[in-house]
Amino acid sequence: MIFEAAAEPLRNTSDSLFHLSGMEPSRRGRRPSQIDIAAVCSRWRTIAHKTATMWNTIIFDNYLANEAAEEWCARGKSTPLDLVVAFLDCAEEGRWHRVALINRVSHRLRTLKLVGYKLPLNHVASEWTLPAPWLQTYEVLTRFCYCEDHTVSMDATGMFIRAPSSFPALRSLKISPMYFPWRTAPAFDGCCASSVQDLTLSFQDWPRTDLASTFRLLAAFQNMTSLKLENVAICEAGSHATECTAIVGLEPVHLLQLQSLLVTTSYGFDSCFQWLHLLDAPSLRTVNINNSQSWQRELPQIAG
Ligand SMILES: [Zn+2]
Ligand SMILES: [Zn+2]
Repeated sequence: MIFEAAAEPLRNTSDSLFHLSGMEPSRRGRRPSQIDIAAVCSRWRTIAHKTATMWNTIIFDNYLANEAAEEWCARGKSTPLDLVVAFLDCAEEGRWHRVALINRVSHRLRTLKLVGYKLPLNHVASEWTLPAPWLQTYEVLTRFCYCEDHTVSMDATGMFIRAPSSFPALRSLKISPMYFPWRTAPAFDGCCASSVQDLTLSFQDWPRTDLASTFRLLAAFQNMTSLKLENVAICEAGSHATECTAIVGLEPVHLLQLQSLLVTTSYGFDSCFQWLHLLDAPSLRTVNINNSQSWQRELPQIAG
């Protein structure tokens, strides 16, 4: 029992992106609690190694050897797997082991978080090919790498992720940040899983949020009930005499199941929200804009 409970703390630490970005040196060399427990004595080690559920949360970062990642995954047997994989190395061989591991455990994946540079993540989108029938939560967090300007082809400037339609059980998808045009492998159209209920999109300060592309993307998530748009940069105007230029020519996007909307804006983009009126969301119940619920009062207008 104590062994199964020990799997829990590691799940919490898996949220530390600082650690994965290598920005928190004090955490280097830290050992997961599973390893500490297994090191107590040979009896504990035997039990720990046999407790499959202790090994189903794994962070495969730059400090974890390939062999250790393999072995831990194997100890998890066929239990559902929560996996974090860092691709903070643009070299070919650094990626190869990690993609191979993802493919090998793809049938067990319950959650997958990929953190890394654009170049390797672009490759992962096409190299991770095996089915992920149980994957419920998928996050792609892209970090800036100085080498990528020289090595990423023009073709790869768009965000390139595996098509969500290849995840039939997917409920939650997070992409941070969005790059436009947004592309998936093999193609954008018709790729979005109807199972997705929670969608989170983070935007960059520059270039600005491409509203037309964003709407096109949103429209593809037919059964979405919860939407988070982070660091939105759509219109800088303080006020408009007429219609907002950012929304001219855009059709409303129909989000019939949407119940909860959370928006944060990029610095200086917190005055004009005319674009919100293009969200046709008749089921909307909760609106939170920049941590304020005052928009709640405008709900009928947004929804209408
Ligand atoms: Zn790079
Ligand atoms: Zn405006």
